[in-house]
Amino acid sequence: MDATLARDWMRAAAAAVAADTDRLTRLDAAIGDGDHGVNLNRGFTAVVAALEQAPPETVSEVLVKAGVTLMSRVGGASGPLYGSALRAAGKALPPTAEVRPSELVTALRAGLEAVRVLGGAAPGDKTLVDAYGPAVDAFEQAVAAGADLAGAAAAAAGAAEAGAEATVPLQARKGRASYLGERSVGHRDPGATSTSLMFKALSQVA
Ligand code: ADP
Ligand code: MG
Repeated sequence: MDATLARDWMRAAAAAVAADTDRLTRLDAAIGDGDHGVNLNRGFTAVVAALEQAPPETVSEVLVKAGVTLMSRVGGASGPLYGSALRAAGKALPPTAEVRPSELVTALRAGLEAVRVLGGAAPGDKTLVDAYGPAVDAFEQAVAAGADLAGAAAAAAGAAEAGAEATVPLQARKGRASYLGERSVGHRDPGATSTSLMFKALSQVA
């Protein structure tokens, strides 16, 4: 991956969020406050603008800039969570023009750890961790088996989507949805759904 591909990834993520804003909002209206689609759409629109205004030259800088922009522009839980994930992923990368799939494994894991530190969610708590965790595992396994970026990203996208779908029967234990207790069961988690969009976007551009 080089900086151009990383920017393409953020643009594809922004396009996916824009296309699915209503769906994300509906999911969040069912078990939250209905702002997830709008939150992320605002955030990723700002990310695309920031990256176009002063295009960074390394993948590391692209992800850090995207993360910092999300942290400063998006309220709610998801801005700080996605923002710190992208920033931590960027900081974990070397300042080289290109990064290898194995280096991206380390970066994606650093992002997941940042989400855990900030939000305290464990697997099964019905949060975006339930899509992000399986996606990183699948990405890592694919790279270990010799896959290139496209292969690893496709595996991660499949695992993220499966993880998002698997949140339906779970009861939320973190975030706003946890206030609903048992009534959160039977709904798909909005954040896990948007995380699936992020990995689908990576797979598309890779
Ligand atoms: P808010 O809940 O503040 O309205 P959003 O609607 O933008 O923020 O985002 C909600 C999503 O954030 C949830 O669907 C969930 O996936 C994710 N989320 C909430 N709290 C946490 C947490 N503590 N750890 C990980 N993800 C979380
Ligand atoms: Mg919300």
